[in-house]
Amino acid sequence: MKIFFLFFIFCLLTINNQIKTEDEIPIYSKNYYKFSEIQNSIKSINFKIDKNIDFVEIYGNNKKIYFLLNSNYFSIGDNVYTSYARNKFINNELYISDEILSCILNNLISEDYSETKRINKLFLKIYKKIQILPEEISLKNIIIDAGHGGYEYGAYGIVQEHEKFYNLEISKLLKKVLKKKFPSLNIILIRNNDDLISLEDRSNQSIKQLQVSKSTIFLSIHCNSVKEKDIYPNGFEVYYLDQNEDSEDQREKKIIEEKLINPNRPNIIQKIHSSLYLSVVQRRSILLANSVEMMLKENLRNRIQSRGVKRANFHVLRKNYMPSILLEVGFITNEEDLKIIANRDMQFKIVQGIIEGIKYYAERKDN
Ligand SMILES: [Zn+2]
Repeated sequence: MKIFFLFFIFCLLTINNQIKTEDEIPIYSKNYYKFSEIQNSIKSINFKIDKNIDFVEIYGNNKKIYFLLNSNYFSIGDNVYTSYARNKFINNELYISDEILSCILNNLISEDYSETKRINKLFLKIYKKIQILPEEISLKNIIIDAGHGGYEYGAYGIVQEHEKFYNLEISKLLKKVLKKKFPSLNIILIRNNDDLISLEDRSNQSIKQLQVSKSTIFLSIHCNSVKEKDIYPNGFEVYYLDQNEDSEDQREKKIIEEKLINPNRPNIIQKIHSSLYLSVVQRRSILLANSVEMMLKENLRNRIQSRGVKRANFHVLRKNYMPSILLEVGFITNEEDLKIIANRDMQFKIVQGIIEGIKYYAERKDN
Protein backbone atom coordinates (compact mmCIF):
# COMPACT_ATOMS: atom_id res chain seq x y z
CA MET A 1 0.00 0.00 0.00
CA LYS A 2 2.74 2.37 1.05
CA ILE A 3 4.69 1.61 -2.11
CA PHE A 4 1.65 2.39 -4.24
CA PHE A 5 1.19 5.66 -2.46
CA LEU A 6 4.81 6.68 -3.03
CA PHE A 7 4.56 5.68 -6.65
CA PHE A 8 1.48 7.87 -7.00
CA ILE A 9 3.29 10.89 -5.56
CA PHE A 10 6.22 10.25 -7.86
CA CYS A 11 3.90 10.20 -10.89
CA LEU A 12 2.33 13.50 -9.90
CA LEU A 13 5.73 15.14 -9.54
CA THR A 14 7.03 14.01 -12.88
CA ILE A 15 3.81 15.00 -14.64
CA ASN A 16 3.71 18.52 -13.20
CA ASN A 17 7.37 18.94 -13.85
CA GLN A 18 6.73 19.61 -17.52
CA ILE A 19 4.71 22.79 -17.02
CA LYS A 20 6.74 25.93 -16.43
CA THR A 21 3.90 28.38 -15.84
CA GLU A 22 0.14 28.10 -15.85
CA ASP A 23 -1.95 31.28 -15.75
CA GLU A 24 -5.42 32.62 -16.22
CA ILE A 25 -5.35 35.85 -18.21
CA PRO A 26 -8.43 38.08 -18.43
CA ILE A 27 -9.78 38.84 -21.90
CA TYR A 28 -11.26 42.32 -22.19
CA SER A 29 -14.06 43.45 -24.44
CA LYS A 30 -13.53 42.72 -28.16
CA ASN A 31 -10.72 40.25 -27.45
CA TYR A 32 -8.13 42.62 -26.04
CA TYR A 33 -5.44 41.71 -23.53
CA LYS A 34 -3.48 43.91 -21.16
CA PHE A 35 0.18 43.59 -22.04
CA SER A 36 1.18 43.75 -18.36
CA GLU A 37 -1.02 40.73 -17.63
CA ILE A 38 0.52 38.74 -20.48
CA GLN A 39 3.94 39.77 -19.20
CA ASN A 40 3.14 38.28 -15.80
CA SER A 41 3.16 34.83 -17.42
CA ILE A 42 5.78 35.51 -20.08
CA LYS A 43 8.50 37.33 -18.21
CA SER A 44 10.91 37.32 -21.14
CA ILE A 45 8.89 39.79 -23.23
CA ASN A 46 8.83 43.57 -22.94
CA PHE A 47 7.82 46.65 -24.92
CA LYS A 48 8.95 50.17 -25.77
CA ILE A 49 6.72 52.99 -26.87
CA ASP A 50 7.56 56.22 -28.67
CA LYS A 51 4.63 58.40 -27.71
CA ASN A 52 5.50 61.13 -30.23
CA ILE A 53 4.71 58.87 -33.14
CA ASP A 54 2.63 56.20 -31.33
CA PHE A 55 5.19 53.59 -32.31
CA VAL A 56 5.32 50.36 -30.29
CA GLU A 57 7.98 47.68 -30.29
CA ILE A 58 7.38 44.40 -28.45
CA TYR A 59 10.49 42.26 -28.07
CA GLY A 60 11.70 38.92 -26.73
CA ASN A 61 13.69 35.86 -27.90
CA ASN A 62 15.77 38.14 -30.19
CA LYS A 63 12.72 39.00 -32.27
CA LYS A 64 10.55 42.08 -32.48
CA ILE A 65 6.98 42.96 -33.38
CA TYR A 66 6.26 46.58 -34.43
CA PHE A 67 3.07 48.51 -34.90
CA LEU A 68 1.60 51.98 -34.73
CA LEU A 69 -1.16 52.50 -32.21
CA ASN A 70 -4.62 52.70 -33.74
CA SER A 71 -3.39 51.34 -37.06
CA ASN A 72 -4.30 48.11 -38.84
CA TYR A 73 -0.75 47.10 -39.66
CA PHE A 74 1.95 45.34 -37.75
CA SER A 75 5.27 43.84 -38.71
CA ILE A 76 7.56 41.02 -37.67
CA GLY A 77 11.04 41.37 -39.09
CA ASP A 78 10.62 42.61 -42.67
CA ASN A 79 7.09 41.28 -43.15
CA VAL A 80 4.11 43.57 -42.79
CA TYR A 81 0.68 42.14 -41.94
CA THR A 82 -2.79 43.60 -41.81
CA SER A 83 -4.75 43.11 -38.64
CA TYR A 84 -8.48 43.43 -38.03
CA ALA A 85 -8.06 45.03 -34.61
CA ARG A 86 -6.07 48.09 -33.62
CA ASN A 87 -3.83 48.12 -30.58
CA LYS A 88 -4.36 50.80 -27.96
CA PHE A 89 -2.58 52.59 -25.17
CA ILE A 90 -5.01 53.74 -22.46
CA ASN A 91 -4.14 54.98 -18.96
CA ASN A 92 -0.53 53.92 -19.32
CA GLU A 93 -1.57 50.41 -20.23
CA LEU A 94 -0.90 48.75 -23.57
CA TYR A 95 -3.89 46.76 -24.87
CA ILE A 96 -3.04 44.23 -27.55
CA SER A 97 -5.30 42.31 -29.91
CA ASP A 98 -5.69 38.58 -30.29
CA GLU A 99 -3.46 38.64 -33.35
CA ILE A 100 -0.59 40.34 -31.55
CA LEU A 101 -0.89 37.83 -28.73
CA SER A 102 -0.64 34.95 -31.25
CA CYS A 103 2.42 36.64 -32.77
CA ILE A 104 4.03 36.92 -29.35
CA LEU A 105 3.35 33.26 -28.57
CA ASN A 106 4.56 32.07 -31.96
CA ASN A 107 7.60 34.32 -32.31
CA LEU A 108 8.77 35.89 -29.10
CA ILE A 109 8.98 32.84 -26.87
CA SER A 110 11.05 29.76 -27.50
CA GLU A 111 9.08 27.44 -25.23
CA ASP A 112 6.13 25.32 -26.15
CA TYR A 113 2.71 26.58 -25.03
CA SER A 114 -0.97 25.73 -25.09
CA GLU A 115 -3.91 28.10 -24.86
CA THR A 116 -7.58 27.54 -24.21
CA LYS A 117 -10.13 30.36 -24.34
CA ARG A 118 -13.25 30.33 -22.23
CA ILE A 119 -15.60 33.32 -22.43
CA ASN A 120 -13.48 36.05 -20.82
CA LYS A 121 -10.42 34.10 -19.76
CA LEU A 122 -7.40 32.72 -21.50
CA PHE A 123 -5.76 29.70 -19.89
CA LEU A 124 -2.15 29.83 -20.89
CA LYS A 125 0.38 27.13 -20.12
CA ILE A 126 4.05 27.49 -20.95
CA TYR A 127 6.05 24.28 -21.02
CA LYS A 128 9.65 23.54 -20.35
CA LYS A 129 11.75 23.30 -23.46
CA ILE A 130 12.08 19.87 -24.98
CA GLN A 131 15.32 18.86 -26.56
CA ILE A 132 14.79 17.18 -29.90
CA LEU A 133 17.58 16.35 -32.29
CA PRO A 134 16.60 16.87 -35.92
CA GLU A 135 16.72 13.79 -38.17
CA GLU A 136 16.17 12.87 -41.81
CA ILE A 137 13.17 10.82 -42.89
CA SER A 138 12.30 9.23 -46.23
CA LEU A 139 8.82 10.75 -46.40
CA LYS A 140 7.69 14.00 -48.02
CA ASN A 141 4.24 14.81 -46.65
CA ILE A 142 2.22 13.89 -43.66
CA ILE A 143 -1.41 14.85 -43.35
CA ILE A 144 -2.74 15.07 -39.81
CA ASP A 145 -6.48 14.98 -39.50
CA ALA A 146 -7.84 16.09 -36.14
CA GLY A 147 -11.22 14.36 -36.02
CA HIS A 148 -14.48 16.36 -35.94
CA GLY A 149 -14.66 20.11 -35.16
CA GLY A 150 -17.25 22.90 -35.04
CA TYR A 151 -20.73 21.61 -34.19
CA GLU A 152 -19.50 18.07 -34.74
CA TYR A 153 -18.31 17.44 -31.19
CA GLY A 154 -17.34 13.81 -31.54
CA ALA A 155 -17.49 11.63 -28.48
CA TYR A 156 -18.69 13.06 -25.18
CA GLY A 157 -16.31 12.66 -22.28
CA ILE A 158 -16.92 12.57 -18.58
CA VAL A 159 -15.86 16.20 -18.10
CA GLN A 160 -16.83 19.25 -20.09
CA GLU A 161 -14.40 18.82 -22.98
CA HIS A 162 -15.52 16.93 -26.05
CA GLU A 163 -13.50 14.65 -28.22
CA LYS A 164 -12.85 17.31 -30.90
CA PHE A 165 -10.89 19.36 -28.36
CA TYR A 166 -8.42 16.58 -27.48
CA ASN A 167 -8.10 15.52 -31.12
CA LEU A 168 -7.01 19.05 -31.99
CA GLU A 169 -4.67 19.43 -29.01
CA ILE A 170 -2.84 16.19 -29.78
CA SER A 171 -2.75 16.90 -33.53
CA LYS A 172 -1.25 20.36 -33.00
CA LEU A 173 1.34 18.99 -30.63
CA LEU A 174 2.13 16.20 -33.08
CA LYS A 175 2.70 18.74 -35.84
CA LYS A 176 4.95 20.84 -33.62
CA VAL A 177 7.15 17.96 -32.46
CA LEU A 178 7.25 16.34 -35.94
CA LYS A 179 8.50 19.60 -37.43
CA LYS A 180 11.32 19.74 -34.89
CA LYS A 181 12.26 16.11 -35.34
CA PHE A 182 12.02 15.99 -39.15
CA PRO A 183 12.51 19.55 -40.46
CA SER A 184 12.32 18.43 -44.11
CA LEU A 185 8.86 16.95 -43.69
CA ASN A 186 5.90 18.90 -45.04
CA ILE A 187 3.14 18.67 -42.44
CA ILE A 188 -0.44 19.52 -43.23
CA LEU A 189 -2.90 19.93 -40.40
CA ILE A 190 -6.37 19.50 -41.87
CA ARG A 191 -7.90 21.72 -39.22
CA ASN A 192 -5.96 24.25 -37.18
CA ASN A 193 -8.83 25.39 -35.03
CA ASP A 194 -12.37 24.44 -34.14
CA ASP A 195 -13.67 24.68 -37.75
CA LEU A 196 -15.77 21.88 -39.13
CA ILE A 197 -14.23 20.53 -42.32
CA SER A 198 -16.34 18.26 -44.50
CA LEU A 199 -15.12 14.77 -45.32
CA GLU A 200 -14.98 15.82 -48.94
CA ASP A 201 -12.69 18.76 -48.16
CA ARG A 202 -10.55 16.53 -45.97
CA SER A 203 -10.04 14.07 -48.80
CA ASN A 204 -9.58 16.81 -51.40
CA GLN A 205 -6.76 18.26 -49.33
CA SER A 206 -5.20 14.80 -49.20
CA ILE A 207 -5.49 14.22 -52.94
CA LYS A 208 -3.87 17.59 -53.58
CA GLN A 209 -0.85 16.57 -51.51
CA LEU A 210 -0.71 13.21 -53.21
CA GLN A 211 -0.54 14.87 -56.61
CA VAL A 212 2.49 16.82 -55.39
CA SER A 213 4.20 13.74 -54.01
CA LYS A 214 3.20 10.10 -53.63
CA SER A 215 5.40 9.96 -50.56
CA THR A 216 2.52 11.00 -48.34
CA ILE A 217 0.85 9.40 -45.35
CA PHE A 218 -2.42 10.23 -43.62
CA LEU A 219 -3.10 10.03 -39.93
CA SER A 220 -6.48 10.69 -38.35
CA ILE A 221 -6.61 11.36 -34.60
CA HIS A 222 -9.70 10.48 -32.56
CA CYS A 223 -10.75 9.54 -29.06
CA ASN A 224 -13.12 6.72 -28.31
CA SER A 225 -16.23 6.84 -26.18
CA VAL A 226 -18.54 4.12 -25.01
CA LYS A 227 -20.33 3.10 -21.89
CA GLU A 228 -21.71 -0.39 -21.70
CA LYS A 229 -23.90 -0.97 -18.66
CA ASP A 230 -21.55 0.41 -16.01
CA ILE A 231 -18.52 -0.89 -17.85
CA TYR A 232 -16.20 1.76 -19.17
CA PRO A 233 -13.85 0.17 -21.68
CA ASN A 234 -10.33 1.54 -22.02
CA GLY A 235 -7.38 1.40 -24.38
CA PHE A 236 -6.07 2.77 -27.66
CA GLU A 237 -6.67 1.26 -31.08
CA VAL A 238 -5.06 1.76 -34.47
CA TYR A 239 -7.16 1.23 -37.59
CA TYR A 240 -6.20 0.88 -41.20
CA LEU A 241 -8.48 0.88 -44.19
CA ASP A 242 -9.66 -2.48 -45.36
CA GLN A 243 -9.13 -2.28 -49.10
CA ASN A 244 -9.93 -5.79 -50.20
CA GLU A 245 -11.87 -6.27 -53.43
CA ASP A 246 -15.38 -6.62 -51.97
CA SER A 247 -15.21 -3.53 -49.81
CA GLU A 248 -13.58 -1.49 -52.50
CA ASP A 249 -15.69 0.97 -54.38
CA GLN A 250 -15.17 0.96 -58.15
CA ARG A 251 -15.58 4.72 -58.21
CA GLU A 252 -12.55 5.09 -55.95
CA LYS A 253 -10.46 3.09 -58.39
CA LYS A 254 -11.59 5.46 -61.10
CA ILE A 255 -10.37 8.45 -59.10
CA ILE A 256 -6.97 6.83 -58.76
CA GLU A 257 -6.91 6.10 -62.48
CA GLU A 258 -7.89 9.65 -63.32
CA LYS A 259 -5.98 11.64 -60.77
CA LEU A 260 -2.92 9.70 -59.77
CA ILE A 261 -1.91 7.41 -62.60
CA ASN A 262 -0.36 8.86 -65.75
CA PRO A 263 -3.38 9.68 -67.96
CA ASN A 264 -1.42 9.05 -71.17
CA ARG A 265 -1.13 5.34 -70.45
CA PRO A 266 -3.56 3.01 -72.24
CA ASN A 267 -6.69 2.26 -70.27
CA ILE A 268 -5.82 -1.32 -69.37
CA ILE A 269 -2.39 -0.31 -68.02
CA GLN A 270 -4.05 2.39 -65.93
CA LYS A 271 -6.36 -0.25 -64.48
CA ILE A 272 -3.49 -2.59 -63.63
CA HIS A 273 -1.52 0.29 -62.17
CA SER A 274 -4.39 1.38 -59.97
CA SER A 275 -4.80 -2.17 -58.62
CA LEU A 276 -1.07 -2.43 -57.96
CA TYR A 277 -1.14 0.98 -56.40
CA LEU A 278 -3.97 0.01 -54.08
CA SER A 279 -2.22 -3.14 -52.96
CA VAL A 280 0.95 -1.19 -52.15
CA VAL A 281 -1.14 1.36 -50.25
CA GLN A 282 -2.88 -1.45 -48.34
CA ARG A 283 0.40 -3.14 -47.42
CA ARG A 284 1.89 0.15 -46.26
CA SER A 285 -1.22 1.10 -44.28
CA ILE A 286 -0.91 -2.17 -42.36
CA LEU A 287 2.80 -1.55 -41.75
CA LEU A 288 2.09 2.00 -40.59
CA ALA A 289 -0.68 0.85 -38.25
CA ASN A 290 1.51 -1.91 -36.77
CA SER A 291 4.49 0.42 -36.34
CA VAL A 292 2.47 3.14 -34.60
CA GLU A 293 0.74 0.60 -32.35
CA MET A 294 4.06 -0.99 -31.36
CA MET A 295 5.73 2.34 -30.54
CA LEU A 296 2.70 3.71 -28.68
CA LYS A 297 2.71 0.59 -26.55
CA GLU A 298 6.36 1.15 -25.77
CA ASN A 299 5.94 4.82 -24.93
CA LEU A 300 2.74 4.53 -22.95
CA ARG A 301 3.90 1.49 -20.98
CA ASN A 302 0.38 0.31 -20.33
CA ARG A 303 -0.84 3.62 -18.95
CA ILE A 304 -3.26 3.31 -21.83
CA GLN A 305 -3.48 -0.32 -22.90
CA SER A 306 -3.40 -1.41 -26.50
CA ARG A 307 -6.52 -2.92 -27.99
CA GLY A 308 -4.45 -3.75 -31.05
CA VAL A 309 -4.47 -3.04 -34.76
CA LYS A 310 -7.83 -3.40 -36.53
CA ARG A 311 -9.27 -3.30 -40.00
CA ALA A 312 -12.10 -0.91 -40.67
CA ASN A 313 -13.89 0.91 -43.39
CA PHE A 314 -13.95 4.38 -41.88
CA HIS A 315 -15.25 7.05 -44.16
CA VAL A 316 -12.37 9.43 -43.53
CA LEU A 317 -9.89 6.72 -44.56
CA ARG A 318 -11.91 5.50 -47.54
CA LYS A 319 -11.18 8.48 -49.76
CA ASN A 320 -7.45 8.37 -49.14
CA TYR A 321 -5.23 6.85 -51.73
CA MET A 322 -2.15 6.81 -49.53
CA PRO A 323 -1.09 4.78 -46.50
CA SER A 324 -3.66 5.88 -43.93
CA ILE A 325 -4.45 5.06 -40.36
CA LEU A 326 -6.93 6.21 -37.76
CA LEU A 327 -5.83 6.31 -34.15
CA GLU A 328 -8.31 6.14 -31.30
CA VAL A 329 -6.04 7.49 -28.57
CA GLY A 330 -8.15 6.13 -25.71
CA PHE A 331 -11.64 6.31 -24.24
CA ILE A 332 -12.67 9.69 -22.90
CA THR A 333 -15.51 7.91 -21.15
CA ASN A 334 -12.95 6.04 -19.05
CA GLU A 335 -11.59 8.04 -16.15
CA GLU A 336 -8.06 6.59 -16.28
CA ASP A 337 -7.72 7.00 -20.05
CA LEU A 338 -9.05 10.55 -19.89
CA LYS A 339 -6.51 11.54 -17.22
CA ILE A 340 -3.75 10.51 -19.64
CA ILE A 341 -5.35 12.06 -22.73
CA ALA A 342 -5.89 15.41 -20.98
CA ASN A 343 -2.41 15.56 -19.47
CA ARG A 344 0.18 17.43 -21.51
CA ASP A 345 3.10 15.32 -20.36
CA MET A 346 1.24 12.21 -21.44
CA GLN A 347 0.22 13.87 -24.70
CA PHE A 348 3.96 14.20 -25.34
CA LYS A 349 4.33 10.47 -24.76
CA ILE A 350 1.46 9.75 -27.16
CA VAL A 351 3.00 12.06 -29.75
CA GLN A 352 6.44 10.51 -29.22
CA GLY A 353 4.96 7.04 -29.78
CA ILE A 354 3.27 8.13 -33.00
CA ILE A 355 6.48 9.76 -34.27
CA GLU A 356 8.63 6.73 -33.48
CA GLY A 357 6.02 4.62 -35.26
CA ILE A 358 6.17 6.84 -38.35
CA LYS A 359 9.96 6.64 -38.32
CA TYR A 360 9.89 2.85 -37.99
CA TYR A 361 7.43 2.72 -40.88
CA ALA A 362 9.47 5.05 -43.12
CA GLU A 363 12.57 2.91 -42.64
CA ARG A 364 10.76 -0.26 -43.72
CA LYS A 365 8.10 0.78 -46.22
CA ASP A 366 10.23 -0.05 -49.28
CA ASN A 367 11.34 -3.49 -48.13
ZN1 LIG B 1 -14.10 10.55 -33.36
